[in-house]
Amino acid sequence: MDSDDSDQEGWDDNEEVFDDDDENTEVQSLFCSTRLPTVPMLMEHDLSNFGFNLTACCHAVGDDDISLIMLVNFIRLQVQSAIVEEITPAYAQALEKNICENPGMFLGDEKYMQPVLRNADGSPDPLLYLLREALHLEDCDDDAILQNEEQASSALANSAQEELMRQMQSDIARLKGLVASLTSDGADVSLKTSAKEQRDSSVPNDAYYFDSYGELGIHETMLRDKPRTMTYGAALLQNPDFVRGKTVLDVGCGTGILCMFAAKAGAKKVVGVDLSSIIERSKRIVQRNGYADVITLVRGRLEATELPLEIEEADIIVSEWMGYGLYFENMLSSVLYARDKYLNKTAGVLMPSKACIYVEAMTAEHDDDRLDYWSNVYGFDMQELRDMILPEAQVQHVPASDIISSRCLAHELDIGTATDADLDFEAHFSVTLTRESTEVKAFVISFDTIFGQGNLKAIAGGEGATTFKEQCLSTGAQAPSTHWRQTVLWLNPNHRVKATTDMVLRGSVTYARSGDNKRNYNMILRWMHPFDRMERVQAYSLAS
Ligand code: SAH
Repeated sequence: MDSDDSDQEGWDDNEEVFDDDDENTEVQSLFCSTRLPTVPMLMEHDLSNFGFNLTACCHAVGDDDISLIMLVNFIRLQVQSAIVEEITPAYAQALEKNICENPGMFLGDEKYMQPVLRNADGSPDPLLYLLREALHLEDCDDDAILQNEEQASSALANSAQEELMRQMQSDIARLKGLVASLTSDGADVSLKTSAKEQRDSSVPNDAYYFDSYGELGIHETMLRDKPRTMTYGAALLQNPDFVRGKTVLDVGCGTGILCMFAAKAGAKKVVGVDLSSIIERSKRIVQRNGYADVITLVRGRLEATELPLEIEEADIIVSEWMGYGLYFENMLSSVLYARDKYLNKTAGVLMPSKACIYVEAMTAEHDDDRLDYWSNVYGFDMQELRDMILPEAQVQHVPASDIISSRCLAHELDIGTATDADLDFEAHFSVTLTRESTEVKAFVISFDTIFGQGNLKAIAGGEGATTFKEQCLSTGAQAPSTHWRQTVLWLNPNHRVKATTDMVLRGSVTYARSGDNKRNYNMILRWMHPFDRMERVQAYSLAS
């Protein structure tokens, strides 16, 4: 290709880019095919031609990014599917009234995250990412008038306006990225990973994880888990002297249950953050229960979201971060991040404050024996399938009667001082068998979390303050059962040990986050066989 050609091509490209840009930011009226150069002009057009007040609708749904995107798509879908020949002002005004009176009717339904309109080149409806800034401008115009009246110093006002413009430009870029990320894969409407995050390989690709927390089932399971929920409730509600007047951050607030416990216990301010779509409903739950003035819920990834909290302002960070085997999901990393950024360094408290992993030896009667089961399935030998269990840590209920050893504390973590590196570790155990003539078939992992006093004395006003009522949430086989059940590491049947009382089994379990997905752990069990004194090693990943 000669240089003239390439220059010509470069020039054409540029022209195309500019043309495209102009076209791409034109916005189509919500009710007819008219295209307007700016969002304020669209608002004006739809107000004067259809009597539709878009600003009022925006304020009714709340003017966060996601709600506004859902609002625009909701309106466009309604208009597309309207069974009328032509949209009339009466129709538009009825729609506005409906939205203003029931702002929650579409929020939280991810269907409305998909752009209904696209430009000719396939790029998404620009109204989706320009609306928020237009609303800001409106607010700023009002502010600017006030400012002009009140402030003599116009130089100051100008620099503030410039700063605002810069901020808005970066917001537009961010929103454009968000909308692009929503549309890059039609099947995945998850908000979990923004476009910037997708480009940045240091940000985890864990949309599937947050999608799962958008489902009701998982939250219902957690809420119905009474030992779990009531222990958190007790830690907050039975210690009102320590919570009253405090600022609380709930990391991963889900349905908002812990936020509401904190508010009920008298917290002055509660902030909950969650990336999952469930939070859109949680916001309305908080409102319905009368806590909207105390609790603020923010949708976003904790690590990438600005919270309405000053640095080190939180007196208490509460979080239900525990996964199977304690650490699966690796959510504790986010709590440690929140601790370092938001927790009051001198008097802040974490709920829970300590986590412990225990190991026990177990046997199993035939019905409970997940390995032997396969040797006779309705009279057929299916041992072929048995080996599939061996590399998987099985999450299952272990009857307390199958536990045949002491419960050994193998790992203890002070959440107040732990670092991210502490979340990969080797936990050593030594269990003493308590039963004769039965076989050790597996090791069982369970965990306890402790809600201790920590620094609470300091925030409650020093010595003489009421004593903190400590709580313990145990997932051991002997405790009331929880949705975490227990995690069982089944032994290769050739390694089983015939138990004798007081026999001691020693070993370790290594927890290592998996390289390709930091939310998964791989585990390695090493233990010394008491007869031949040889080490046995088995690797496990969590059964899915
Ligand atoms: N606190 C609620 C939900 C606990 S489940 C309850 O006790 O019922 C954990 C929640 O944390 C999920 O809803 C998940 O979406 C959220 N979560 C996990 N890591 C997060 C992060 N880094 N940023 C925002 N939310 C997160």
